[in-house]
Amino acid sequence: MTALTLIDPTDESVIGEVPMATVADTDAAVARAVRAQEGWSRLAPVDRARALRRFAAVVDAHVEELAQLEVRNSGHPVGNARWEAGHVRDVLDYFAAAPERLIGDQIPVAGGMDVTFLEPYGVVGVIVPWNFPMTIAAWGFAPALAAGNAVVVKPAEWTPLTALRIAELALEAGLPEGLLQVLPGAGDVVGERLVTHPDVRKIVFTGSTATGARVMAGAAQQVKPVTLELGGKSANVVFADADLELAAASAPGAVFDNSGQDCCARSRLLVQRSVLDRFLELLEPAVRAVTVGDPRDEATVMGPLVSRAHLERVQGFLDGADVAFRGDAPTGKGFWCPPTVLLPASADDRLAREEIFGPVVSVLPFDDEADAIAMANDSDYGLAASIWTRDLGRGIRVARGVQAGNLSVNSNSAVRYATPFGGVKRSGIGRELGPDAARAFTETKNVFFATE
Ligand code: NAD
Repeated sequence: MTALTLIDPTDESVIGEVPMATVADTDAAVARAVRAQEGWSRLAPVDRARALRRFAAVVDAHVEELAQLEVRNSGHPVGNARWEAGHVRDVLDYFAAAPERLIGDQIPVAGGMDVTFLEPYGVVGVIVPWNFPMTIAAWGFAPALAAGNAVVVKPAEWTPLTALRIAELALEAGLPEGLLQVLPGAGDVVGERLVTHPDVRKIVFTGSTATGARVMAGAAQQVKPVTLELGGKSANVVFADADLELAAASAPGAVFDNSGQDCCARSRLLVQRSVLDRFLELLEPAVRAVTVGDPRDEATVMGPLVSRAHLERVQGFLDGADVAFRGDAPTGKGFWCPPTVLLPASADDRLAREEIFGPVVSVLPFDDEADAIAMANDSDYGLAASIWTRDLGRGIRVARGVQAGNLSVNSNSAVRYATPFGGVKRSGIGRELGPDAARAFTETKNVFFATE
């Protein structure tokens, strides 16, 4: 078994090594998951619910530990990392209600009685990116477990530590051995084997659109269902009638949170032309006020990027770009990139079209409501969008007109565990979180009982 060296993105120190699983390890993990799932799916729903609540309570007792681990492994500011660990607990608590609410139907038919059962798939593979290692893992495993499945999680190569710890906490909470396993390894080894393994009956993949398409093609060979949460280039649309102070104060957080390594980052800032100059005047001090530095410092708003390779990719976009203004960032050791505002020459510029996945926002002017909707939709992606206006009718019209899975009006919020999350177009298929998420981990079986 080979090992991967993990690097702290803040100071480039070595954290340690993590073993990289092989295809044989993956097959063994799936076999363990198959065995664990049999008993788990036969448990009374109330007992599955209780087990998930216990799991949530154990995570709750380890929020600080998980947060510190994420700070070290991923460079997330400690306040954000605490929120992420708390979110894992909340997602588990939320889906603990699901086992007793997965209710089939009794359907009126002639000559008998017809009933549907919602049955778990069996083993589910959850493939996770590096940007939110614990929360995205939980969005997959919590509803899947609630529905009676076993789960094998493949974390991203650079950021396995919090998911590995959460799997230990599951055992501490009394979940059966093998029910929730975390298997670090390469995407084209462990990830691909989960996709092609005949006993893995559903895949939840979060990551880039290119890899998502590959996962979908692989899963198609076995007609295996996939949920895909992919990339984005989301629009933040500011109308002249908006509260410009509020929109400008909120815009940096909408794109620079998590150093811009956020699938929902509002990285296209579309501003009505008549207020563009005023808006930029308000935006500049807000961008300069973003505190970039040591993620262990409670006052830090933005930490480093996750790795040198990713920093170089982001810098590749910025070489020669027309920078309007930017904030400060540390120099020296660590993977630092300052929050940066660009004014691309046109909406066709690659800076305005491609997902940079770093602290970079492109500002583009629009003329009227129709133009704003057309520009927001002029993207291969469709994950999130924000609309800033004081005109309620306009807010509704634009929200209905923009092609995206998650919109907010006069806010940049995107993710709540109780509401569905996911994208349209090349941002993905399927929804996670919200009231229907556990049901998406079941297959409907129909049984007709003849009475005549
Ligand atoms: P990535 O596609 O490179 O990798 C994602 C995961 O897939 C990793 O665990 C990787 O090892 C694995 N993988 C790689 N090749 C594979 C293969 N052939 N088969 C199976 N698995 C394979 O993405 P990334 O760079 O880790 O993450 C960044 C991307 O994720 C961005 O595009 C971002 O927008 C997207 N993302 C989307 C959402 C969402 O909910 N829509 C959330 C977070 C991140």
